[in-house]
Amino acid sequence: MSAIRRTRIVCTIGPSSSSPHTLRAMIQAGMDVARLNFSHGDADAHREAAANVREAADAVGRPVALLGDLQGPKIRTGLVEGTFQRLVRGRSVALVARHTETPDDIEVSHVELMQALRVGDRVLLDDGRIELAVRAVEDGRAEASVVRGGLLGERKGISVPGRALPLPAMTEKDVDDLKLAIDLEVDYIALSFVRRPEDVLICQQHITGHNRNIPVIAKLEKLEAIRNLSKILEVADAVMVARGDLGVELKLGELPAVQKEVIDRANRAGVPVITATEMLESMVTSNRPTRAEASDVANAIWDGTDAVMLSQETSIGAHPIEAVRAMARICLAAEKHPDFERAHQIWHEAGDVGGAIAHAAASTATELQARVIIAFTESGTTALRCSKARPPMPVVAASPHEEVLRRTALYSGVVPLLVKPGSDTDQMISNATAAALDAGMVRTGDRVVVVAGVPVGRPGQTNLLKVETV
Ligand code: PGA
Ligand code: MN
Repeated sequence: MSAIRRTRIVCTIGPSSSSPHTLRAMIQAGMDVARLNFSHGDADAHREAAANVREAADAVGRPVALLGDLQGPKIRTGLVEGTFQRLVRGRSVALVARHTETPDDIEVSHVELMQALRVGDRVLLDDGRIELAVRAVEDGRAEASVVRGGLLGERKGISVPGRALPLPAMTEKDVDDLKLAIDLEVDYIALSFVRRPEDVLICQQHITGHNRNIPVIAKLEKLEAIRNLSKILEVADAVMVARGDLGVELKLGELPAVQKEVIDRANRAGVPVITATEMLESMVTSNRPTRAEASDVANAIWDGTDAVMLSQETSIGAHPIEAVRAMARICLAAEKHPDFERAHQIWHEAGDVGGAIAHAAASTATELQARVIIAFTESGTTALRCSKARPPMPVVAASPHEEVLRRTALYSGVVPLLVKPGSDTDQMISNATAAALDAGMVRTGDRVVVVAGVPVGRPGQTNLLKVETV
């Protein structure tokens, strides 16, 4: 039990990783959450990947959460004549929202961009590689000069740092992809380019419209989202520090501080947080990470992140299994450092019974050197509360529901345990300790701290704390 990894690993599934064989090896290496990225691939590819993830998780015998990641309202450039548009410094160009063959025009996917632009705005193309300065705006057309030049390919991302654009929270494609995700019974939905809490609520309403209850992860990739973080943390079920797109919006050097702040505030709010993008980027081609990447992962863990994410490393990289293995080793090593313990017990919700019980469980278990905390969980909430109290021992999430155990795959330090339902508290506890004993999580004579909500079967109600000896 002592060598259990606390930090959870999210892997993006793609051509490099969707085969049953590779997925099985990735789960064995430590994948906790499999991300289907709806920005790439077609419905058939996602269907097949989802089925293969489920099958591989069954074969290995460990719950793996499926995450459906919606593209969101990302503004892109259009198709270009030839392969590239050559934009040299000083050249005059125009942004237009229709197909164009004029060499100085750049086609843009959303007319709303030109409506919101003001003279002097900085427009970034292709992850910030190319920069334009707006000189004039008139009827759906923005004249601009190239400030930083480059070759512009097709369908590249556009951002205007800090400028609020009147775009819908979800596009038609997102609505279709959400249907597919629901069909595939994903455990989490991630929404890209969230700007305001309303965006998350709209996504949740769409899910409710399908009669489902799926937690929503708000991807923080806009400056606006960081400005609205407190309100977003009130409604989102989890957040992601989406460093790829967020890094484009921030000034060079600002990202590390924003990452620390988001993780800290998510922890204080009791909301799970994923740190994402370029974590082991060199492994897209190399079979081992750089020292700098190992350091970056460790620092995200010391910042207090619940989960770390692999993107291209596992979706299109040459070494998907090695990347997961490397990630798991770095996590385990970072968790031994005193800075990992220091992130503990900062979450506090005044007047909340569940939170008070979770903190009491963490300090009681520490005081009594309990082997584990067993959290009976109807919806995952009790396990999350105990996880966010960051106790030094594992939190065993005990539930008769497989989908609830899959959901806990995102929570730091949580180990899933499938238990038979009990008719009363005593029976529930003895079922769980027997199952934990069987699974080798505890030994006879071990102290355990039990947390539950009674009466049994009512979700979100954590109100019982009990100390047991196995
Ligand atoms: P993406 O999101 O991989 O879907 O772009 C993560 C990020 O922007 O960092
Ligand atoms: Mn992104």
